[in-house]
Amino acid sequence: MNHIPFNKPFMVGKELWYIAQAHHQGHLAGGGHFTKHCQKWLQNMTGAHLARLTHSCTAALEMSSLLARIGPGDEVILPSYTFVSTANAFVLRGAIPVFIDIREDTLNIDENLIEQAITPRTRAIVPVHYAGISCEMECIMDIARHHDILVIEDAAQGLMSSYKGRALGSIGHLGALSFHETKNIISGEGGALLVNDASMKEATDIAWEKGTNRSRFFQGLEDKYTWIDMGSSFLPSELIAAFLHAQMEEAVSITNARLKMWDTYHSGFSALEAKGMLRRPVVPADCKHNAHMYYLLLSDLQARDHFIARMAEAGIQTVFHYVPLHSSPAGKKFGRTTDDLPITDDIAQRLVRLPLWLGLEKQQGRVIATALDILEHAS
Ligand SMILES: *Cc1c(COP(=O)(O)O)cnc(C)c1O
Repeated sequence: MNHIPFNKPFMVGKELWYIAQAHHQGHLAGGGHFTKHCQKWLQNMTGAHLARLTHSCTAALEMSSLLARIGPGDEVILPSYTFVSTANAFVLRGAIPVFIDIREDTLNIDENLIEQAITPRTRAIVPVHYAGISCEMECIMDIARHHDILVIEDAAQGLMSSYKGRALGSIGHLGALSFHETKNIISGEGGALLVNDASMKEATDIAWEKGTNRSRFFQGLEDKYTWIDMGSSFLPSELIAAFLHAQMEEAVSITNARLKMWDTYHSGFSALEAKGMLRRPVVPADCKHNAHMYYLLLSDLQARDHFIARMAEAGIQTVFHYVPLHSSPAGKKFGRTTDDLPITDDIAQRLVRLPLWLGLEKQQGRVIATALDILEHAS
């Protein structure tokens, strides 16, 4: 019986070919041919005003925190059910993450709880599109406009997903994407910042170019190349961009293949959901998703842990997800909540993610059959 891992990075085949081209061209630092190609692809694919490659989604979030001019004591509203970088990027600038609860259906930030969390110190809302399924962006943008605060989308899981026809990451003022090997389109480590607010374009290039006006200098718009503002090294090497370029060429086919597997899981578990034995993911009518993740919500922590252990005995790795940030040591130290977060606390204990990667197709039947067998005999 062979082991089925939770994740296996998918290589499209042309990655090394493009890396060889970058090698041949002798341009290895960032900002060259492949970086430009990837950024143009992202702009075309998402409709974002500007795209800049970064080392990671974490770096893109840190860049957005700089661009938002976040400072000590400022507050940022975000869900507790997310990856640490969503909060850390702002804590690094001295901000206080204010954690609020999620919706029961999509597990995304509950837009109805945002307004009551806003104070005079609130600078930004950071919606996280969990599993590549969009938050209620229309409502969130309305609240932000009304209170004159920024929206920074954590779209780490959301490339190739949309909300009312608009790509995730292209709706807020800024959006952060990830190409980490656990995401759909990958470069090992990697990310991008999408800039949708045209007024942030120049500041973006300054922050991206270590705080200098290098970009304007090379466009012939400045006669000196000098330090202008805060910045850092955010751009990845051309070798990473070359790898990513190969992946982007296959983004549509990768997404379609993932969607097919997602749908197979979804119909595989429909009967148990009908019997009230579990809950499957919910995709609202306004959302098109990218099949980033397939999860199940079981009845309680004990059932979830039993399931993971039994699946492991059968050679299939399944995993839970985030420890809610508001209950983590750093979350308690740096952040606060406005209230109890009952849905976050509950969901975190009941959620389990199933393997979903290209190449699993032939064995997916075994994953579903094993899971059904365990779930049907658990109670
Ligand atoms: C993966 C992920 C990140 C971090 O992405 P990196 O590219 O690894 O920095 C941030 N937020 C969410 C919601 C993620 O899923």
